[in-house]
Amino acid sequence: MDTRLPSYDWPELEKGWVWLCGAGPGDPGLLTLHALNALRQADVVIYDALVQEAILDWAPQAEHIYAGKRGGKPSAKQRDISLRLVDLARAGKRVLRLKGGDPFVFGRGGEEAQTLVQHGIPVRIIPGISAGIGGLAYAGIPVTHRDVNQSVTFVTGHDQSGNATQSLDWDAISKGSQVIVIYMGMKHIAQISASLIDAGRALSEPVAVVTSATTADQGVLETTLGALEADIAKAGLEPPAIICIGKAVRMRDVLNWQAQAEGIAPVNLDPLGRGRPAETA
Ligand code: SAH
Repeated sequence: MDTRLPSYDWPELEKGWVWLCGAGPGDPGLLTLHALNALRQADVVIYDALVQEAILDWAPQAEHIYAGKRGGKPSAKQRDISLRLVDLARAGKRVLRLKGGDPFVFGRGGEEAQTLVQHGIPVRIIPGISAGIGGLAYAGIPVTHRDVNQSVTFVTGHDQSGNATQSLDWDAISKGSQVIVIYMGMKHIAQISASLIDAGRALSEPVAVVTSATTADQGVLETTLGALEADIAKAGLEPPAIICIGKAVRMRDVLNWQAQAEGIAPVNLDPLGRGRPAETA
């Protein structure tokens, strides 16, 4: 593959700057060109657990510093990471902070950027494809689909203390969100599904759990809200996982493009039971 950047007025990553950049959900091809431009120029790349090795290989000139959880060791403290970025920038490095997905979606990127700004370090933010959108697309699930939903809610399964998110009004989410996309939901899935069912969501509501989305290890479990917890346990699923709740999941019957690329025919061309082709609304 020719990895030269197309001709364009690419910004220069200057000494003393930090570029806070999303790496996308996994597949290196889902990086933005700004991310690739940053990888080419960085002196140091500080990256998180969900960033693939192949992406780091695109910055062979840079020092690579790991800032996530590994092998059961406690994760680097958020404040330590932010201050490390400050130190590296002050030492005159061209710093690339690389985070999974989008840095401003459940990624604490806002906190890191805030610390940098408070210390007078110039920053550039490079958005990325978030797992809750791009990861679902790789599973054949459109996060909005005109026949299904006019809104989508992204939630995190746990709060700062690591407990199930207390500040969320599950009743309101259940009633107001046609499609719910849950990040970091595996640990507290029993509580989350019980809250949604208590608030009136049907046991039969379609659910997909997409693990390691967009990577070679991607797995998709299709189930229902009522069977979700048991099916996750039965399948022995491990994070990272995106959980999608709502009728959009049904679209996978017709849009599972990865299976189709392997020659498997769509399961059902009218997954919403409209009795007509989808495009003739
Ligand atoms: N900033 C990231 C989210 C970080 S929070 C983003 O925008 O995607 C970490 C959570 O993201 C994981 O617990 C999981 O719920 C989700 N996630 C990230 N990458 C994923 C992947 N490849 N497959 C499935 N879920 C993923």
